[in-house]
Amino acid sequence: RSKDQGGGSHNTYEPQLHVHAEERRVLEIALRKALERNEFTVHYQPVVSAEGGTIESFEALLRWNNPELGNVSPARFVPVAEDARLIGPIGEWVLRTACQEAMRWPDHIRVAVNVSAEQLGHPGFVTSVISALSHSRLHAHRLELEVTESVFMREGTGAVAVLDQLLALGVRLALDDFGTGYSSLGYLSKTKFNTIKIDRSFVQGASKNAPEALAIIRAVVAMADSLGMATTAEGVETEQELATVRKLGCRKIQGYLFGRPMPAPEARRLFDVDRAVA
Ligand code: C2E
Ligand code: MG
Ligand code: MG
Ligand code: MG
Repeated sequence: RSKDQGGGSHNTYEPQLHVHAEERRVLEIALRKALERNEFTVHYQPVVSAEGGTIESFEALLRWNNPELGNVSPARFVPVAEDARLIGPIGEWVLRTACQEAMRWPDHIRVAVNVSAEQLGHPGFVTSVISALSHSRLHAHRLELEVTESVFMREGTGAVAVLDQLLALGVRLALDDFGTGYSSLGYLSKTKFNTIKIDRSFVQGASKNAPEALAIIRAVVAMADSLGMATTAEGVETEQELATVRKLGCRKIQGYLFGRPMPAPEARRLFDVDRAVA
């Protein structure tokens, strides 16, 4: 690209960058007060067995409603919270809230909580997990922590050691959004994840019979099987996607087809129905 064109694109891009930075600033200021103003809630999305369609767990998904900004998606505010070093306290609140809520469900139902790389790398993280478990009295094996491949890319955090400490507590581990990051497969031999979550992009591709997506899911399932790990297909929206990932051997399914993320009372009510039927 020539200097002239570079100048032109500079003019084009600067306003966007400016809006972007301005948006981050606005979000950061609002985020600083969001916890104390009780603006966060946690929604819960069912994860069901591919075989029988019974609920195995719920994923806790953070929701933020701010009086001025309205509902802001975690895809937008979580990265800002990470950069502003706010994800620690916010994540700890999610962890405590989710553990307490899971105590209201039947004993065999687990809760999955997302943990960002920034959070996992913080020296107090394992202690905060122990504290959330003991305050709620939730059994460690009913808590699953979801991390992405990015935890292995941060320098000097000793992610493998922290994950081992969590496993030693009896907490379960899931590798989220698998296949979208840049990490090496070597980490899969170092950390005994219970579950690999196959990203929705592959699920969508496979149901459209994209040969690459089919091959990738097939390979991930085979690898997980031989490593003794389960697989969850993320973002299953249609019967066709369900049929495809089932045929490919995914053990668990999560997606709008079975249930959207829902407020805690609604998730709880699913078990009242179960009991009425049984
Ligand atoms: P994730 O952990 O991969 O969560 C799954 C996302 O996919 C959720 O988006 C969920 O609502 C969405 N989803 C589930 N089923 C379907 C489907 O069938 N179709 C489509 N189109 N989407 C589906 P959500 O709730 O907007 O969260 C986005 C991301 O924000 C999460 O991705 C996670 O990375 C992050 N996040 C959410 N809550 C927390 C949290 O408490 N802590 C941290 N660190 N990150 C969080
Ligand atoms: Mg997740
Ligand atoms: Mg995911
Ligand atoms: Mg995802």
